[in-house]
Amino acid sequence: MDMSLQEVAAMYELECTIGLEVHAELKTATKIFCGCKNEFGAEPNTHVCPVCLGLPGALPRLNSKVCDFAVKMGHALGCEINPVSRMDRKNYFYPDLPKAYQISQSDIPLCGRGRLDIIVDGDIRTVGITRIHIEEDAGKLIHDDDFAGTLCDYNRCGVPLIEIVTEPDLHSSREAYVFLENIRSILRYIDISDCKMQEGSIRCDVNVSVHEKGTPLGERCELKNVNSFSAAVRGIEYEIKRQKDIISSGCMVERETRRWDDKKGISTVMRSKENLQDYRFFPEPDLGAIVLEHERIERLRDEIPELPNKKMIRYVIEHGMNCDEAFVIADSPDKAKLYDECVALSICKPRSAANRILGDVTKFMNDTGRSIADTPLTAEALSELCKAAEDGVISSTGAKRVFIELVTKGGDTAEIIERLGLAQNSDEGFLNEIAEKVISDNEKSVSDYIGGKSNALGYLVGQAMKLSKGRADPAKLKSILENKLKKEN
Ligand code: ADP
Ligand code: MG
Ligand code: ZN
Repeated sequence: MDMSLQEVAAMYELECTIGLEVHAELKTATKIFCGCKNEFGAEPNTHVCPVCLGLPGALPRLNSKVCDFAVKMGHALGCEINPVSRMDRKNYFYPDLPKAYQISQSDIPLCGRGRLDIIVDGDIRTVGITRIHIEEDAGKLIHDDDFAGTLCDYNRCGVPLIEIVTEPDLHSSREAYVFLENIRSILRYIDISDCKMQEGSIRCDVNVSVHEKGTPLGERCELKNVNSFSAAVRGIEYEIKRQKDIISSGCMVERETRRWDDKKGISTVMRSKENLQDYRFFPEPDLGAIVLEHERIERLRDEIPELPNKKMIRYVIEHGMNCDEAFVIADSPDKAKLYDECVALSICKPRSAANRILGDVTKFMNDTGRSIADTPLTAEALSELCKAAEDGVISSTGAKRVFIELVTKGGDTAEIIERLGLAQNSDEGFLNEIAEKVISDNEKSVSDYIGGKSNALGYLVGQAMKLSKGRADPAKLKSILENKLKKEN
């Protein structure tokens, strides 16, 4: 068999594959199996009861809101919803888990196969969703410097989680990052999770493997303890390099669970293949089957708005935005609503509205931490402002002043322009008068200009702008001045 050098090279080209397991805490008022408050940051061990502490004889009862939230996420990711599913016991010992088992879902999750289309550097990628299931969170171990030992806070025990499992469809740390950003954005849009990374309300496990192009997927390693999206990127990069080095040196990657240490930037072995955990899953005997009526599933489907990943794709493909611009607008329900309303009004060009939102609106939201919904700014007023700027009625500085007025006090754009005297005067008579006065007052510059010093024109325009108190349209003024100077010649 003859092979070209390229074919040989391609055979040894190593590809990486990534699958994610994303955990998100749901923001229900109470926990998944008891009436304890689901609240972050309370005094340790104040939101606990016999059920979430797993005291003998205490019986769990499923919070139906948890199912509603999970089904909504299922709809958002186009998943099949299982009308009948079940909870299972996952048995293991750890000090943060007083019952010594976690109630989760194994064989029949609430949501089955789905997909998420994301846009990565201008290309659409489809990521398969394997499943979404519900489960309870464990407590938190506190390693305090003042105390020689470990403290347990069980407030988080029984906080509801969804776990979203992807197919091994991602092929770079960048794709994984964009996927995670999209998931977070969707969770916020449908309002089921706070997604506060710093509070651990969204976390992920990262599975990485490397294989030669054209051969079956390689053995994977699972990274645990990945606490931010940027840590996921660093962990994936490290793991790809580590596995490529192993394969290039002629060895095999072993199936392992590894701990990511983000401070040190390395992963270390937690469990190897020989001692993979056996969780001895079995159906949870204290809870019945979860049965969802057709109407309930459909009602929840109707509650899903257009989602940010779809918006992003629409903004890039139909509105010609770049990916970063589309993300900034689509990621924020506030900005997206404002933009979509401006487009629907078609008072100004969509591009002007986008620029104003990416600029002034984003700056305002970042500076004040406020949402646009809490301000008097309307899409109509913003569109009128954009239109006035497009038509040269106001300067860019003037537009910023009008924006601040609209977002703080509200009102009518035209009235504000009038009241603040911001209209750039494009009146020919007014501009002619100014041009004539400047020419007669600046003989030296005029003769310089006629003598060939073309930069003298800039000075004259500056003088004329001053004379108009900054209200004249500079482009018009310049052309009028130029014409008059030609005649002087
Ligand atoms: P487990 O139950 O042991 O965690 P799963 O089959 O549920 O195993 O897979 C968990 C995750 O691992 C999924 O996100 C899946 O996409 C990913 N995965 C499976 N095989 C590979 C592979 N060869 N390379 C990378 N990721 C993989
Ligand atoms: Mg796993
Ligand atoms: Zn409780």
